[in-house]
Amino acid sequence: MKKKGLVILAMFIISDLEAQKRELITLSQEEFEEIEATTTELYRDLDRVTPGKEGAPPSDAIILFDGSSLDKWQKTFFEYSGSMAEYHEWLPSLKEGPYVTAPADWKLEEGDLVVVPGTGHLMTKELFGDVQLHIEWLTPKDTTKKSQDYSNSGIFLMGLYEIQILNSFDNETYSNGQAGAIYKQHIPLVNATKPPGNWQEFDIIFSAPKFSNSGNVLNPARITVFHNGVLIQNNVYLTGPTCYIGQAYYVKHPEKLPILLQNHGNPVRFRNIWVRKL
Ligand code: MG
Repeated sequence: MKKKGLVILAMFIISDLEAQKRELITLSQEEFEEIEATTTELYRDLDRVTPGKEGAPPSDAIILFDGSSLDKWQKTFFEYSGSMAEYHEWLPSLKEGPYVTAPADWKLEEGDLVVVPGTGHLMTKELFGDVQLHIEWLTPKDTTKKSQDYSNSGIFLMGLYEIQILNSFDNETYSNGQAGAIYKQHIPLVNATKPPGNWQEFDIIFSAPKFSNSGNVLNPARITVFHNGVLIQNNVYLTGPTCYIGQAYYVKHPEKLPILLQNHGNPVRFRNIWVRKL
C-alpha cells in the first residue's frame, strides 16, 4: 500500500516538473526578455578593496594596532564594573563624541599590546558603529589562576557589548562567560580555543543597535564571531549591554562609540587589530 502511494507521489512530482519545463519552453522571446530585464541589476562599479596577503589587513581597513604605537588608544572615560544599574546612571546623558581622555597606559612589549593590571581599560580615540573587526590575542599560561580570573579580558563593541576573552582551553567556568561568549547572553556554538600561550584570532561582524528619537529600539545589536576561523556566534541578537549584575536592557546611546579593551587584572596580550566601517 505504502509502495503504491510512493509511486503515485513520484508520478505527480515528475508530471509537475514536466509541466514547469513546458511552461518555460513556451515563453516567447519577448516574454523571456521582459523577465530578464526585471531580474537583472544594471552594472555597478563597486568600491574596490584589495585583500591583505597572509593575514595582513585589507586595503580599506583602519589599523588600530600594528605593534608600533598605542596612538589610536586612550584611557576610558568610565569604569566598567559590570552592573546594569551603573550603565543606566551615565548612558542616557552621554553626549556625542569625540571623547578626549588621557594617553593609553598599557605596555608596548615586543610589538604586542599588553594589559597592565590596575591601570584601567583602553578605548579607541575613533568612534565606530557597524564594523568588521579583526583582533589577535594571547592568554598567558598561569596555572595559579582559574575560572574568570584566568586571563580574562574582552572586546567591548561601542564600549558596551562584550565578546569575552579568557583561557577556555583547560579552565572551567560558566558557559556564557567563556572565551567567545557574548558575555552572559550567548554561549559560543563550539569551543575553538587554543591552549594558553598561543595566539588566537577573533573576526567579528557587529551591527550597532538603532534607536528611535524617543529611545525605542528599532533594531537590536547583532554579532557574528569567528574564533580561529570557526563560526562561534551566528548573527545573535543582544538584549542590551553585556553586564555581570542585572538583567540587560537597552538604554539609548550615541550612534558611534569607541571600541574598548577590558582590563580585568590579567596580562593578556594583543596584536594585529584592524577594523572596517560597514
Ligand atoms: Mg571579560
